[in-house]
Amino acid sequence: MQRETEHKTICSYCGVGCGIKVKVDAKGTIGVEGDEDYPVNKGMLCSKGKNLNYVAQDTTDRILYPQMRWSRNHPMQSVSWDTAFDRAAAVFKSIINKHGPDSVGFYVSGQCLTEEYYLVNKLTKGFIGTNNIDTNSRLCMSSAVVGYKKMLGEDSVPISYADIELADCFLIAGANPAWCHPILFRRIEKHKEENPDVKIIVVDPRKTQTCALADLHLQILPGTDVILFNAMARWLIEKKKIDRKFIKQHTVNFEACRESAFQLSLRKAAELCGITVEEIRTAASYIGNAKAFISMWTMGLNQSVIGVSKNLALLNLSLLTGQIGKPGAGPFSLTGQPNAMGGREVGGMASLLAAHRDLGNSNHRKEVSNFWGGKEISGEAGYTATEMFDALESGKMKAIWIICTNPIVSLPNVHKVEKALENASFVVVQDISHNAETTKYADLLLPAAAWLEKEGTMTNSERRISYLPKAIDPPGEAMADVEILWRFAQKMGYKGFDYSSASEVYDEHCLLTKGTNIDISGLSYERLQNEGSFQWPVPHKEHMGTPRLFTDLKFFTNDEKSHFNAPPKLYNQSEKTDGRYPLILNTGRVRDQWHTRTKTGKVKRLLTHIPEPYLEMNKVDAYIRGLKEGDVAMVKSRRGEVKVKVKVNYDIREQVVFLPMHWGKVLNNDFGRANNVTNDLVDPISKEPDFKYCAVQVTKY
Ligand code: SF4
Repeated sequence: MQRETEHKTICSYCGVGCGIKVKVDAKGTIGVEGDEDYPVNKGMLCSKGKNLNYVAQDTTDRILYPQMRWSRNHPMQSVSWDTAFDRAAAVFKSIINKHGPDSVGFYVSGQCLTEEYYLVNKLTKGFIGTNNIDTNSRLCMSSAVVGYKKMLGEDSVPISYADIELADCFLIAGANPAWCHPILFRRIEKHKEENPDVKIIVVDPRKTQTCALADLHLQILPGTDVILFNAMARWLIEKKKIDRKFIKQHTVNFEACRESAFQLSLRKAAELCGITVEEIRTAASYIGNAKAFISMWTMGLNQSVIGVSKNLALLNLSLLTGQIGKPGAGPFSLTGQPNAMGGREVGGMASLLAAHRDLGNSNHRKEVSNFWGGKEISGEAGYTATEMFDALESGKMKAIWIICTNPIVSLPNVHKVEKALENASFVVVQDISHNAETTKYADLLLPAAAWLEKEGTMTNSERRISYLPKAIDPPGEAMADVEILWRFAQKMGYKGFDYSSASEVYDEHCLLTKGTNIDISGLSYERLQNEGSFQWPVPHKEHMGTPRLFTDLKFFTNDEKSHFNAPPKLYNQSEKTDGRYPLILNTGRVRDQWHTRTKTGKVKRLLTHIPEPYLEMNKVDAYIRGLKEGDVAMVKSRRGEVKVKVKVNYDIREQVVFLPMHWGKVLNNDFGRANNVTNDLVDPISKEPDFKYCAVQVTKY
């Protein structure tokens, strides 16, 4: 019998980052409940968070031992950790010696803890000598990162959840927080309930659950967001609803924004967006008359070949109205994953450098390489998520190490990803579960410790850093990801990886932020454990964190001004519809599933909401094709096909269809895997894929 223990931790799912109390009883049974003391959720949890105990308890799908095969013709066999590390190091050394450091790469996850993210970035950029380290956050936030950098000088979310209760106007664009960020949405809902005059505008081609709270739902045509935001900007300028003093004193480049906004009349903009002029005027007037205005967005803007343009057009609205750096005001990108923000802090992407330093700046690179004591860091961005798999397919990259992500379901145009992994010389998969379809492609399979089985930190959407304790032992020989990484680095013969705990890695990361705009040198595990969570920056040991940035209206740009930017593209024309492929496919998430369902798919209760994949379709489009509710349809694009049952309603626009992204191959059949058909085109600046816009045909199967 073990003794009963209690722990305070953070939910492992979305970027809201709710606090959870975990109890482990004498028999090892795990119970979870919301933490009333945690400022984010004050005791509330959504359906996914409430059921985390089932996921933590059920080890039936867990990878328990390292496994490897000598060639693709050999079966997988269990091996010791020493053998696994020897093999990994031998193969990586041999490939690097023969083909150079850019022939290998790491593809990781916004679910990795900050320490893991930090170490894999250090290992790759500082010691292997390649910038080929990217993450599934590329599929989620990279367009917002570029937008923030262009506007504010750095990738910095200016505000906090506490600003929700201080705002009187919300513009929620390309997001369905009612399902995807439920606890944050509950806060908006409660605020609106208590203050009925608060205005909520929702921009979405679908009428989602979030629209139930909206004063105005702008059901625009897919890909027309920039035109809409520009039209609002035009109305604000024409009606003199802008903050002239703020624009004059604290911004540059207003003329570029003005010129872009005045390219189209309101009438033309409304026609292209598929809404009325009156709707644009009403939305703009809500923003123009607001005392405190917040914009919120996620994948609907980011996952696009014009994702950066969409972000820039939206961000301009906050600058025009001077709605930043004050209570209840600012642009607020909602991160999908629990630690997408932590990953950005450590520079864990192919185009970033540690502690928000600039990869293109040779002084910054020198600072980091001197600190690490490794190789000179290249100023060229490495392969990003989709580029990495292209490089494997073409043979430019030979080996990939995949950590805590399931690209065989989540990447666009997924048949290409299958080919890439088949073509790779060596695939390492480090994961917790055999349910991740990508494990089938592994030459070396490494069992990782899961949530509650390892310690570390995460940063949520509002820059809040929290400590996650180890509450239970991992099953079998599963090991904390951070230890797997430092032990591999040691086998490679690299100096500077002689850690014995995650806290040592964290302290090193904190030290590297010293003197930067995200300085957290005042933080330690001890402070996080004893005093709770902190919002960065926390530059010294007495500092209590920073809930709101830019209160002095000095920004992180060289001139300390915020920058207007003219969006380079007005609308998405990545794949035109035609007679053969007449519908636009949009993909997204459902309330009770998470990513590729390796965890939520195990919980029976979560399957009662939406048990299987579906295609949402307007009744008119369904009628034309002889389809009714529950029929199986074949969805085809220029890249592939997928069979799926149909849900018909009037909530989605005509000529637009929607598929959730969670399901992989069902019964070894391509039933419901959305990414069979999606497009792997990317935004040219952010390299974020175009998941929300591809031309398809739908027929009765
Ligand atoms: Fe977890 Fe997000 Fe739900 Fe909070 S809102 S309980 S962080 S999934």
